[in-house]
Amino acid sequence: MAPLRSAVRPAQNTPLLRRAFSSSLRRDATWGFIGLGQMGFFMAKNLRAKIPAEDTLIIRDVNEESTARFVSETSEVAKSSGAGDKVVIAQTARELAERSTVIITSLPGPQHAKDVYHSMLRQGELPALEQERLFIDTSTIDPASSKEIANAIHTTGQGRFVDAPVSGGVVGARAGTLSFMFGASSQTGQLLDRVRSVLAHMGKKSWHMGAPGAGVSGKLANNYILAINNIATAEAMNLGIRWGLDPKALAELVNSSTGRCWPMEVNNPVPGVVETAPASRGYEGGFGVSLMNKDLRLAITAAEESQTHLALADKARGVYNAVEEEHRGKDFSVVYKWLQDHSH
Ligand code: NAD
Repeated sequence: MAPLRSAVRPAQNTPLLRRAFSSSLRRDATWGFIGLGQMGFFMAKNLRAKIPAEDTLIIRDVNEESTARFVSETSEVAKSSGAGDKVVIAQTARELAERSTVIITSLPGPQHAKDVYHSMLRQGELPALEQERLFIDTSTIDPASSKEIANAIHTTGQGRFVDAPVSGGVVGARAGTLSFMFGASSQTGQLLDRVRSVLAHMGKKSWHMGAPGAGVSGKLANNYILAINNIATAEAMNLGIRWGLDPKALAELVNSSTGRCWPMEVNNPVPGVVETAPASRGYEGGFGVSLMNKDLRLAITAAEESQTHLALADKARGVYNAVEEEHRGKDFSVVYKWLQDHSH
């Protein structure tokens, strides 16, 4: 088995392997986190800060710059708190899975998630640890891919898989105030308690939505609304402004009326209306238009699989395709700017 690369040298008398395979009665003493992107980076940081100092966190990302930055930021904190060597970089997802009792993933889309889980499982059975492995995928993917991963784990008896996508964005990830919606096969006791206690390290709320796949279904339903509300808000603001209305007054009116919604109230697409919104800083940061478009595509695919008619989906998809083409990398509220540019 290839050795794990320790970020800071382990103490001489506590080699990593002894630590990872310890028969200690403490639960979840070795944690794995894969995908240190916009969301995962902060989720893993909060996890590291909230688990006991003596626990080990093993991290993995294909982006070496992210892993190096994570190690440097967490070792600063460890030094100042007097904690020891507790962040370790794995060279592969398989290495991480071999040693971790809880494995959390935060990956861009379905193919990334399937590839990572496949690479954890494909080299035969994972070695048994003192506690059953718990895999938690927090990525927004489609229910079919998520169930495929759950099946691969459950049918080979390699642990429990839970889909637990998040809501709350980068701001919530950083503050540790995310909401999770999760799918897990057990309706009772232990597994749900264990999942909730893990998620509590990274967020404030968690909803058990039902069987595996139910978490991502809930997430896609929510984001379908978000995709449409965002376009409607941008259109209504553009319309109102062109009619001569004051944008702040219009937003205030709507936020006290039946049109109230998150894009109008929190993520207003017109620069200057909400100072903290991405629109007020050149549409930088926030929820990328490509991620919104991906979620809309996943919702449409999942709707087709369940033979459910969506009246607005194709139109919305056309909008996000066009906006993504012109404003890739910007917050999805940039739809407003696109509308402005295309109004004569
Ligand atoms: P991101 O693209 O910033 O991060 C993904 C990370 O995964 C990157 O660091 C990438 O290098 C890493 N990665 C990709 N393939 C890998 C592999 N094979 N092995 C290891 N690492 C790999 O994405 P994000 O914004 O952090 O979002 C993560 C997930 O959370 C997505 O599914 C997204 O839809 C969802 N989400 C994002 C937001 C948001 O506001 N950004 C909000 C809610 C949900």
